[in-house]
Amino acid sequence: MAKLALVPTPIGNLEDITLRAIRYLKEADIIFAEDTRVTQKLLKHLGIQQKVISFHAHNEHRFLEKSVQIVEDSELAVLVSDAGTPAISDPGFLLVRACLQKNISIECLPGPSALIPAIVGSGFPCDKFIFEGFLPHKKGRQTRLKELSTEERTIIFYESPHKLVKTLAHFSEYFGEERAVSVSRELTKLFEETKRGTISEVLSYYTNKPPKGEIVIVVAGKK
Ligand code: SAM
Repeated sequence: MAKLALVPTPIGNLEDITLRAIRYLKEADIIFAEDTRVTQKLLKHLGIQQKVISFHAHNEHRFLEKSVQIVEDSELAVLVSDAGTPAISDPGFLLVRACLQKNISIECLPGPSALIPAIVGSGFPCDKFIFEGFLPHKKGRQTRLKELSTEERTIIFYESPHKLVKTLAHFSEYFGEERAVSVSRELTKLFEETKRGTISEVLSYYTNKPPKGEIVIVVAGKK
């Protein structure tokens, strides 16, 4: 019976791959990857030779029917993204839904995702939280920030380094400059850093020291 497995991969530190993830990558009949070069590099590091085909945001819709057919024709198809858990701010959801509609079984292995170490390390409540991913850049951004300004649960955002200062300035405007925030950068990597404080403190820190690398912003909920 055909099965699609979603296999998380490291978000930086290659030691974070699980034994089961390695086994699935070895045993797969086919691996769908966001960027085949990134995945081939990981496979080379693991000493695995496998057939990898492209499944990324630009071809996700167009390639969907064909991908489901490929999954149906295999015993084990694996989907990976460049880093972390597929379908979390990455391609994957459409393929999972299309496979479920054809009664193909889905399995998602637990593994790395940037949002979990960021919230757990923030020191904010993690019993209830919401994951916002990337905020819209233009249309809908203000409306969403306004809606989130009364949110009582901890909120997690993904952001790129060159937009961090602008986004923190928006947070100051909508959530208030005294709201607590935790910015995690380069999680699991050599220059990992988490900066905690009020929005105004963290904003001034990154205004003076423009950040590089990958970023998760965790904002405390409204008291
Ligand atoms: N699927 C991934 C996951 O499970 O976390 C997320 C992919 S999304 C395209 C990439 C974003 O995730 C980055 O812009 C950043 O916000 C966050 N991210 C990924 N790796 C990270 C890391 N090592 N440190 C901090 N943030 C990271």
